[in-house]
Parts: sequence; structure tokens; C-alpha cells
Amino acid sequence: RATLGVLGGGQLGRMFVHAAQRLGYFTAVLEPDAQSPAGLVSHHHIQTSYDDPAGLAELAQLCQAITTEFENVPAQTLQTLAQTRPVAPGAAVVGIAQNRIEEKAHFTACADVSGVTCAPYAVIETDAQLQGVQRNRADLLPGILKTARMGYDGKGQVRVKTADELATAWTELGGVACVLEKMLPLTAECSVLVARGWDGQVVSFAPQRNVHVEGILAVTHAYEGNMPSALADRARDAAVAIAQHLNYVGVLCVEFFVVDDGTEHGGLVVNEMAPRPHNSGHYTIDACDASQFDLQVYAMAGLPLPQPRQHSPAIMLNLLGDVWFDASGQLQEPNWRSVLSLPGTHLHLYGKLQARPGRKMGHLTITGPDVASITTVARRAADLLGLPGLGDI
Ligand code: ATP
Ligand code: MG
Ligand code: MG
Repeated sequence: RATLGVLGGGQLGRMFVHAAQRLGYFTAVLEPDAQSPAGLVSHHHIQTSYDDPAGLAELAQLCQAITTEFENVPAQTLQTLAQTRPVAPGAAVVGIAQNRIEEKAHFTACADVSGVTCAPYAVIETDAQLQGVQRNRADLLPGILKTARMGYDGKGQVRVKTADELATAWTELGGVACVLEKMLPLTAECSVLVARGWDGQVVSFAPQRNVHVEGILAVTHAYEGNMPSALADRARDAAVAIAQHLNYVGVLCVEFFVVDDGTEHGGLVVNEMAPRPHNSGHYTIDACDASQFDLQVYAMAGLPLPQPRQHSPAIMLNLLGDVWFDASGQLQEPNWRSVLSLPGTHLHLYGKLQARPGRKMGHLTITGPDVASITTVARRAADLLGLPGLGDI
């Protein structure tokens, strides 16, 4: 019985499990939470912490190959598993993606081949470095101070305008290793999904354009014409170069900023990468002939990677827990019937038992024959659900 393993039990793991099961694989999820989205749908749920040697031994014993859906899985865990089983992505690349300091060093190291650089930044790990930046790097202000580790959905970030605010923010963040990044005039954001096999075969999706609200992904626009094609080509080539330079195996998502640099289409700046499928790629489930999760399964299983083809334009709306609360703060299930009566709507709910504001509970992908019709449906769905900040869809 071929079994594929995944570290982490969140929605990304759940969608990996679904894709694996479709190909006839059994799955094993290692996740401490008893009620996790992936654990609930997997054949095996090893309910223990990521550093429990007995749990890791059981996972390795069950599985043909192991991947991760949880970005912050300890590198040691991946190393331990890799002693006996193929693990992808590997400990070294996950370690780089987990630490903004190493991640930016990698982006800088391969800027010649990728053709993109990251935002101007400085590393702040010590008081002396803080003072040095306060004195000499006025060019980075206004900026964003980001913790090097464990940040996601805009958490662990403080926007700072002055050298004094920078010092306060660093203390607020606990004096841990950080990067100060220059605040850039963004005109858009996009991301690119790349899948690479053990044999170095690479396939990729066209870039999707992403809209964030309060640091969290709100909307993904996935269709031809979502951004100037010259920029889209550059982003796609850059993401492939970054994956190759890492000798990456599995699915990688690279996030980019589009900045106003006075040129016709704007400039492209690489933001960060996620060593796994990504929220901005969920539209691939309904709009492509192979999804990002299918590709993760193919890559894990050592199968040839199909070059995915998008068959429908798509818009994805993220459904955060906020949607589950009415105006008076009462918990209330959204009116799915009205949303699902709209044409081309694909509702994905992750089976999380508790809705909380800001918590990713599901997403709605809208597909249709053309961009005009999906835009109309997306606007209506957003209105029905009371989604904030979607005026520009
Ligand atoms: P994710 O959930 O994508 O992992 P994160 O918490 O790691 O997010 P970033 O991607 O670094 O955070 O930043 C979150 C958002 O904040 C970006 O998508 C962008 O909208 C904004 N942002 C971050 N850095 C900058 C910058 N240097 N200039 C302008 N806006 C920025
Ligand atoms: Mg991030
Ligand atoms: Mg991000």
C-alpha cells in the first residue's frame, strides 16, 4: 500500500490528502491537534508533536515519501525523517524559507539568474546593529520591521516611520532577530507556483495577482490579462530560477511586489517564498487540469509532472472567520445557499470546528467563461458574504 506522509494538519494538508486519495494513495498526517482539517480526512493521523521521535519513526515506517504543509516544522524533524525516507522539500531549503535573513540572502545570491532583487533591507539582531541602522540607514524609512522567523499573515510586523519608532518596535517584537525593509510603493502583488521533481523537471503556473487586506490574502485574480504580460513572464522566469537555484523538490510559491519605478509596467521585487502550496494557488483546484496539490502529490510520488493548463479564468475569495459573525457579533453560519446559487461558484470549507476573526475557514473560487462574468459573480458573492475591502474586484 503506497502511503504519502505530510507534516502538519491544516487546510493545505487537507487539500494534499484529497489530491493523494484521488490517485489511490493512502495518507498519514502528523499533527498534534486532534481535530485538524487534514487529520480528520487522512487514513492515518499520528497525533503527536513534530519532535516526538516515536511519532516520526511511525510516520517514516508508514510512508513512501514525506512532505510538509506547515512552514515552521523544525528543520531537525525533516533531517531525522530524511535518514530513512525521501523528504521534500528538504531541511536545508525549508530552513532558508523559515528565516527572512537567510531567505533574502538567497534571493540576493541568485539575483543574477532570477533577474529580481528584494526590497532594500538591513538585518537587526543586536543593539549595536539597531544603532547602526538608526544612524546610517535613513534610506530604509519609512519601513517595515519584520521578525526573521515565525511571521505569517502580517503577524510579527511593525510599520515604522522614524529611528525612534524603530527602536520601540524592535523592543515590542521582543528584541529578536529581525529585518527592516524599506516600505515600497506597491502597485500590485503577485505570486508564482513552481513544482519541481526529484529529477529536476520543472513546471509552473502563470502568476496570480493577489490583493491583501490588513496583511492577509483576501482576493486572488487568476486569468490572462491580470497583469501586464511582460511582468508576468519575468515573475514566472524568476520563480523558476529561484527554485532551481535552491535545488528545490516539491511545490514552491514565490511572492512578488510590483512597484512604481517610473517604467511603463513597473518593476518587479521578490518578497518571500513558501516551501509548500499556497493560499493564492487554491484556484488551481477548480480552474486548472492539475492543481497545486496534484503537483505536490506527483512530485512526492516521483511521477512525471504534467504542465498544468488553466481552462477557466478564476477569482478566489478567501473566507476568514469574520464572515461567520453578524453585525452584532453573534456567531452565524453564512448564507451558503444564496452564494451557491450564483453560477460558477466552488465553495471549499476546511472543516474547522471554531470560527474566529482572521482565521482561514475556507475559500470560494469563481470560474466562468470570461473575466467579465466571473467579476460580476465575485462582486455579488462578496456582497452577499459581507466581505470587506473588495470594492476593486
Ligand atoms: P504571508 O501570510 O504571505 O506569509 P507575511 O506575514 O510573511 O505574509 P509579508 O508577505 O512579508 O508577510 O507581508 C505581508 C503584506 O504586507 C505583503 O503582502 C504586502 O501587502 C505588505 N508588505 C510587506 N512588505 C512590504 C514592503 N516592503 N513594502 C510595502 N508593502 C509591504
Ligand atoms: Mg510569509
Ligand atoms: Mg507574504
